Amino acid sequence: MFRSAAIRLTVWYLGIIMALSIGCSIALYHVSSTDLSRDAGRQITYFNDFLGPNDQSIYGRLRATQVDQDRSHLKTNLALFNLLVLVGGGALSYALARRTLLPIEEALETQKRFSADASHELRTPLTAMQTEVEVALRNPKLTKDEAISLLNSNLEEIDKLKTLSEGLLKLANQEGKLELDHSANLQDITDRSIERFAKAAAAKKIKVIKDVKDVSVLGDEQSLTDLVAILLDNSIKYSPNGSEITIAGGQRGKNIFMSVTDQGQGIRAVDLPHIFERFYRADSSRTKGAAGGYGLGLAIAKKIVDLHGGHIEVKSALNKGSTFTIYLPAA
Ligand code: ADP
Repeated sequence: MFRSAAIRLTVWYLGIIMALSIGCSIALYHVSSTDLSRDAGRQITYFNDFLGPNDQSIYGRLRATQVDQDRSHLKTNLALFNLLVLVGGGALSYALARRTLLPIEEALETQKRFSADASHELRTPLTAMQTEVEVALRNPKLTKDEAISLLNSNLEEIDKLKTLSEGLLKLANQEGKLELDHSANLQDITDRSIERFAKAAAAKKIKVIKDVKDVSVLGDEQSLTDLVAILLDNSIKYSPNGSEITIAGGQRGKNIFMSVTDQGQGIRAVDLPHIFERFYRADSSRTKGAAGGYGLGLAIAKKIVDLHGGHIEVKSALNKGSTFTIYLPAA
């Protein structure tokens, strides 16, 4: 598809280049040809005063032949020049066409990968539900208790699908919705995030410590709350019962920083470069299926940080804990 589009674009670019080149060549030929005739005419008039009638006609024919030769020279040179433009312009047009199409090609490729990844992830809970329902339907002695347990299990899968589709939506279209020129207070952001996960933290007896200064950041409060919530959610998921999580925040130079530090399982060095990729889950998290998640959280977090013109860093030590730090422009 892109090859034929590139060729079509090349033909268009080359057509424009050739139209310009041939147009200029024709104009140049006409101007030069008129100049040649005028010069020859002037010379003949000048020499006619010194030459006899016989020599005059010989000189006149000689100049006419010379002018014809000069014109054909000019024609050949211009034809050669246009041939060169055709070859060089063709190569240049193709390179330009590829360059024009490359960002579109890359965007389409990303879109394709995204759809493939998403449908792959969507299939897993759907297949689980389908299998359970099919097995139940084939069982003529299905009891009420079994049916209730099946529905509960289906509800769990539906919950997962909902989380997944919400995550996918967040990744797919966030740009337009953000109000990036607003000022958002770090205290408010932290409080709302902590509130969202208070139950989950309490269930694991995890103590969330807040050490946040009263400063504001330039950005969309809702999505920044989502961002801190993602980091806090991960810290709770990947930390042992009874541990501590610290959310710190303040100003460092021109930037506002926020960090979430846990005493959890940590992240292996091999996983660190990939954790912000969507659907990436470190092996340990996959095997510990109870932690849930689809590997979308940090991809969404990174997208929010990028949209705010900030950056995110992570430091982690296995079995000791991790610190995720976000830097954002101050309000
Ligand atoms: P998930 O839904 O799996 O949590 P994320 O994108 O939020 O997806 O995280 C990607 C992976 O990074 C996780 O699967 C986990 O292996 C690792 N990770 C993220 N945060 C932490 C953390 N605080 N402690 C340990 N591992 C983490």
